[in-house]
Amino acid sequence: MFLKKSKLIKSSSMIAFMAFYFGSVFNLSFWRFITEKVEVSNFYDFLFALSLPLFIFVPLWLFFSLIIIPKIYKPVLSLFVILSGITNYMMYKLGVYIDDSMIQNVFETNIREASDLLSMNLFLFVLFSVALPLFIIFYFDIEFKKFKSELSFRIVSTFILLFSLFIFAPLVYKDYASFGRNNKQIKKLINVFNYIHGTVKYYKKIRLEKRAFTILDDKAKLVPNPDDVYTVFVFVLGETARVDNFSLNGYEKETNPLLSKQNIAFFKNTSSCGTATAISVPCMFSYLNKNNFDSNDAKYTENLLDLMKKSGYDILWRENDDGCKGVCDRVKTEEMVKIGNPKYCTSSYCKDEVLLDGLEDVIKNIKNDTVIVLHTMGSHGPSYHNRYPDEFKKFVPSCDTSDIQNCSKEEIVNTYDNTILYTDFIVSSAIDILKKFNNLEIGLIYVSDHGESLGENGIYLHGMPYSIAPKSQTSVPMMIWMSDNMKKYDFINYECLKDKASKGQFSHDNLFHSLLWLMEIDTKIYNEDFNMFKGCLTK
Ligand SMILES: [Zn+2]
Repeated sequence: MFLKKSKLIKSSSMIAFMAFYFGSVFNLSFWRFITEKVEVSNFYDFLFALSLPLFIFVPLWLFFSLIIIPKIYKPVLSLFVILSGITNYMMYKLGVYIDDSMIQNVFETNIREASDLLSMNLFLFVLFSVALPLFIIFYFDIEFKKFKSELSFRIVSTFILLFSLFIFAPLVYKDYASFGRNNKQIKKLINVFNYIHGTVKYYKKIRLEKRAFTILDDKAKLVPNPDDVYTVFVFVLGETARVDNFSLNGYEKETNPLLSKQNIAFFKNTSSCGTATAISVPCMFSYLNKNNFDSNDAKYTENLLDLMKKSGYDILWRENDDGCKGVCDRVKTEEMVKIGNPKYCTSSYCKDEVLLDGLEDVIKNIKNDTVIVLHTMGSHGPSYHNRYPDEFKKFVPSCDTSDIQNCSKEEIVNTYDNTILYTDFIVSSAIDILKKFNNLEIGLIYVSDHGESLGENGIYLHGMPYSIAPKSQTSVPMMIWMSDNMKKYDFINYECLKDKASKGQFSHDNLFHSLLWLMEIDTKIYNEDFNMFKGCLTK
């Protein structure tokens, strides 16, 4: 009896504790951002800095006043504690911003990708941060007042707190307006509200998706240049490769020993459409440009592969990454991990060499013009060390764990460079296979979906909002290799193209139109302005 009574607390204490704990411990990255960005140079700046804790605490007070209700408050609070513990880790340790695209990533990811992120570090960090609030939730019982007085207390207390904000408001309004404008991404760091907002926005998008499929051009057709050989084109879709770490781009370490000996056109300045796979991959195959691209529209609109298929190409998508994000929905697809070649695969992932296995036979047996997409796993982090076989562990010491925060910068970069070295081998080997078919009009493009941060300024991985993402997340390698037949039948001045590639500015926006042109497809949707071969044609 006595013990039971000692465990009772008032609802106001629980609301205050939660608002305080969430506002401080679960918002570490928000406060880190503030201490880095806010400069106090006058009295108003000082007031602004002083008001910030209040501007976090009051909305949280309101939030917990709404959800701390009898019977259900224990599971509801626990859920928010655990979710906030995890998002806090992702923001604070990995530099991630939580918004609807990040929520989309979470819902569209698979178990393997998720388990890649799991680590002892994550477990301990989350455990320490959620232990106290969970203890409070389960040790104490709230003694709720009668409904009317409980309600009036919450309304009055919220009103008083809001009023205190209004006292500050006229004095600091300008600071908030300018700070908010210059640091729009900060709202994606405010724990609880960031993932609630992101989830609501994501579900709104999903709801919109139940709609008709858009046909771009019913009359798209193949108008081949006069030649009597089949066209075969291989699209090697890269993952998380950043151009900074390619020696083809001047990187000091020799990460491209094989490709540097191939006769390729290397596009030095290529920017990605997004900073995450879920945006970049569908965008690369979409007629829309980066500026007007929407991943939901893309799912319900014909893409480059649809137009190729409609024009008469056979299409094969070989998948070794985390899915094609809707791009391959209507074409023949082979999933490497499901096929499970024991030479290259564990039960959850395969090394990229699996994509080359049997490729020669596939090309030998074509009965039509054919496009083959090889979706690589490339340099997907944070378990970079799982991406390549031992013989590619050339740069050491490496970071052989997914707890990349525990590795030195040098170890992380070395491991990442090994993934690039392996990618060099994969792409170069694919070219070697294609070289055997001088009876065909055959060629290859390699382009990565987005780059990666390797700890520069404390930022890891990718997926930052594009406007503030560092260049390393948006600068991607792109290269083309063409057989003599392809150069001849497509009227390509190859030396001109190599020169243009090394000097010009390119982006994922070029892919759709350039490949329509290269595959000799006649369609009204084609826009010559984006054709990257323009200016290097002999006809
Ligand atoms: Zn990606």
